[in-house]
Amino acid sequence: MKKIFLCSIANINSGTCNEDCKFCSQSVKYRADIARYIHKPIEAIVTEARYVESKGALGFCLVTAQKGLDERTLDFVCDVATAVKKATPRLRLIACNGTASLQQLLTLKEAGIVAYNHNLETSEAFYPNICTTHSWQERYQTCLNVNTSGLKLLTGGIFGLGESHEDRLSMLRAIASLNPISVPINFYHHNDALPLAPNPLDIDEALALLKLTREMIPRADRIMVAGGRELLFQERVKEIFDYGVNSIVIGNYLTTSGCDVEHDLQMLRELHLGIATSPEDAK
Ligand code: SF4
Repeated sequence: MKKIFLCSIANINSGTCNEDCKFCSQSVKYRADIARYIHKPIEAIVTEARYVESKGALGFCLVTAQKGLDERTLDFVCDVATAVKKATPRLRLIACNGTASLQQLLTLKEAGIVAYNHNLETSEAFYPNICTTHSWQERYQTCLNVNTSGLKLLTGGIFGLGESHEDRLSMLRAIASLNPISVPINFYHHNDALPLAPNPLDIDEALALLKLTREMIPRADRIMVAGGRELLFQERVKEIFDYGVNSIVIGNYLTTSGCDVEHDLQMLRELHLGIATSPEDAK
């Protein structure tokens, strides 16, 4: 039986980022109507972790909305990791905190983080169209740092930002060059506060992109569909598993609501798909 790796995201610092990524409602520049807070209380994060663990999640990702780690954020992520690990030892902790140096990544590893997520987002050539406050090369370097640190690398991107097909191929080639263990694929979720046009992809085009991702990154253990899953695929969401996807995010995303967890679990049962209880299960 094919088994699906379930991940959950905890937005532990929300909406405070000074960068100008045009797809991101967490940038302070676009004044999107979202929750904004510096640090979510650790007890609340532990409660979220316990809940998703009880539903079968294996990955739990601690996300901060900033360009990268500073000393204060690093301390906070480490404190959260320590508390979550103690409460839910079965969960595999992932950090997603933007630009990170090798030393910062090693500190996270000591605190119990096992993987780091840093998406390339789009191609190197298209990147200046969606962000002007930091470079694509900086993102790529953080991914290289992750590989050097011994943490597992998760890196992917977003489709539907206005990029060309060549941009998509270029991004996927760059991701493949980094040998990630998991490739999170997002589909742009439009918000009227953001300067981008709505996602132009239809369902068939999006499924074809998932197939292409699997084909171009054959060595990754997992292709994960993250943000935009419910919005884009709607009633055809079950088809993603026919196109190489073996991981999904359950629960809410960073600033948008996801599907009801029970609804997703019911979908997996109907499809006769199991839930991975170890990373090896979903290979
Ligand atoms: S750096 Fe990250 S949190 Fe900040 S605006 Fe860009 S995508 Fe959003």
